Amino acid sequence: MSSLSISNYFPFSRVKITEQSVYREEKLSSLIKLVPDKRYVPLCHECGSEATTVHSKDHLRILRDLNIADSQTWLQVEYRKIWCENCGGVRVEQLSFADASKRVTQRLARYVYDLCKVMTVQDVAEHLDLDPKTVKNIDKTFLEQEYGVTDCDNLRILAIDEIAVRKGHNYMTVVMDYMTGKIIWMGENRDKETLDAFFRIMTKKQKKSIEAVAMDMWEPFINRVKHHIPQAKIVFDFFHVVQSFGKVIDEVRKQEYEKANNQDKQVLKGSKYLLLMNEENLKDSQKEHLENVLELNSTLNTLYVLKDHLKLIYFYSDRDIVKQTLDQWCDMAATLKNAAVDKFINKLRKHQYGIIEHADYPIGTSILEGANNKIKVIKRKAYGFHDMDYFTLKVKQAFDN
Ligand SMILES: [Zn+2]
Repeated sequence: MSSLSISNYFPFSRVKITEQSVYREEKLSSLIKLVPDKRYVPLCHECGSEATTVHSKDHLRILRDLNIADSQTWLQVEYRKIWCENCGGVRVEQLSFADASKRVTQRLARYVYDLCKVMTVQDVAEHLDLDPKTVKNIDKTFLEQEYGVTDCDNLRILAIDEIAVRKGHNYMTVVMDYMTGKIIWMGENRDKETLDAFFRIMTKKQKKSIEAVAMDMWEPFINRVKHHIPQAKIVFDFFHVVQSFGKVIDEVRKQEYEKANNQDKQVLKGSKYLLLMNEENLKDSQKEHLENVLELNSTLNTLYVLKDHLKLIYFYSDRDIVKQTLDQWCDMAATLKNAAVDKFINKLRKHQYGIIEHADYPIGTSILEGANNKIKVIKRKAYGFHDMDYFTLKVKQAFDN
């Protein structure tokens, strides 16, 4: 008798291999037949207790398992139905290697889950010749086990931001644990109700532990944070402030362009990104163009200097100095006597408490801001992406490292 054996490839307990066959249909396939090992008392798949009596035998299940070499592998598993005293009814016997309702083995499911971390659902489905829906469901089941429960214990500092899910509107609000970089929660839209839904899952004690929150100057969020966690310090994120001022620069640039004569229009043309980008990222020719713009137009020149000075406000860790710097900035901006600029000054004034707070809590939302690329990749991986729960779980997973 040959000592060659395939049983080592199937280290499943309480079953025996009785037959193996390899055949070729469209693809090379293996069929492994398994029967219960009679030395063991069958267990109830629901509660795990030992069966009192066997109710009926010779039931068959076909399960897909990991491939062997180039061959797809199918298990034909014989199992019994049992009488379970504990459940008080007829139950299917438990298999050590597959869940009762699944058509794949646990180890194949785990492999699918691991592949889904780096591949799209479609690619995994194609690679393993499985239905994309099956792949997605396997992935989602594992994700739910790992990320399905929202843990709001021991949170001290939060970062809240929104991400654009589809071009145009459709936003999702993301709440991150600033200290660990993990996504705690995601909800649709970015309004008051969205944050209410988040705070609803927190206990009083959990809410009390929040010291500070980094976010954008976005009224619905500010309002709800003040309402639900009044003790928490609000810190307005630096990059959002810069971005918001960038819009002002662009608005004024358009005004200046309209006012300019034809010759000056030639200089101002194409200056949008020169004014908004960081100078160190500009090519030499762009730098020269920018210099010409700033030399030509004193309003844009002042705005450009102001853009740089915004950084100073966020530079200091002394509250008084931050306040002074902010005052100086607003005074300088006010000299422009421009309605769009004045509106921005008012916005800063109204929210200055959350800018001064940055001196004590130098935090922001830029980790989330940088997430948009990651999220694009997840959208692709997440197959269509009509399932918001699945999408949320994928995002949580991507930020858990
Ligand atoms: Zn039972």
